[in-house]
Amino acid sequence: MPNSSSDRALRDAELRGKLAQVKARIDASAKASARDAADITLVAVSKTRPAQDISLLYEAGQRSFGESYVQEAVPKISILNRCTIEWHFIGRIQSNKTREIARYFDWVHSVDRIEIARRLSRQRPHSLAPLNVCIQVNISREPSKAGVTPDEVADLVAAIYQLPGMNLRGLMTIAPRNTTNRNTNRRQDFQELNNLRSQLERGQGVHLDTLSMGMSGDLEDAVRFGATIVRVGSAIFGVREP
Ligand SMILES: *Cc1c(COP(=O)(O)O)cnc(C)c1O
Repeated sequence: MPNSSSDRALRDAELRGKLAQVKARIDASAKASARDAADITLVAVSKTRPAQDISLLYEAGQRSFGESYVQEAVPKISILNRCTIEWHFIGRIQSNKTREIARYFDWVHSVDRIEIARRLSRQRPHSLAPLNVCIQVNISREPSKAGVTPDEVADLVAAIYQLPGMNLRGLMTIAPRNTTNRNTNRRQDFQELNNLRSQLERGQGVHLDTLSMGMSGDLEDAVRFGATIVRVGSAIFGVREP
């Protein structure tokens, strides 16, 4: 009996429990590194999850949600338009999808090309505040991964800074997945992203208040190395179906 009220109550209890666990992990990690947990925003990554899950979490107080696929996200955003949700786009950006991203999202974490930034800026509706933007950095220089290399970031920062429809907020990275020294590598990556931000602030006179890093498996390390946004999917919603 899908969608019965008892199923909904069960799912509600499950999601509230998982949300509380993730918040407790963030709090503990913030405390351990003498940071204020209030400086860390939890983005619940709701890609592949139904609008009803988002709605239950919203009722539990969650306000920021992340999506990776435009086609899937837009109908959910439309259904939930009465909720004051902050929507974060975290997936790869195809140029034929920028118009919808610029219209439906508040944040984009995955900008890694100036052409894409120009399109998003041009297509951002004037009735909306400028789009909050992070530049995705491929710190570990994995060939398969999206993002600019660290030495390419400065040029992109300078270019995005000029765009009227964009509010450049900071840097985003995805930690390495299948390396032999996974823990060491991701800590180095998080530290490097943090250093890169400081270098850019000093070198280019820009203010970057955001480091978007850390997911279900590594949010503690990310918080320890300065994350201001963590993007958490499976630890809240359960394991994604393949
Ligand atoms: C899916 C995804 C996440 C969430 O990953 P989990 O391991 O499920 O927490 C975070 N960031 C990006 C860019 C993603 O695509």
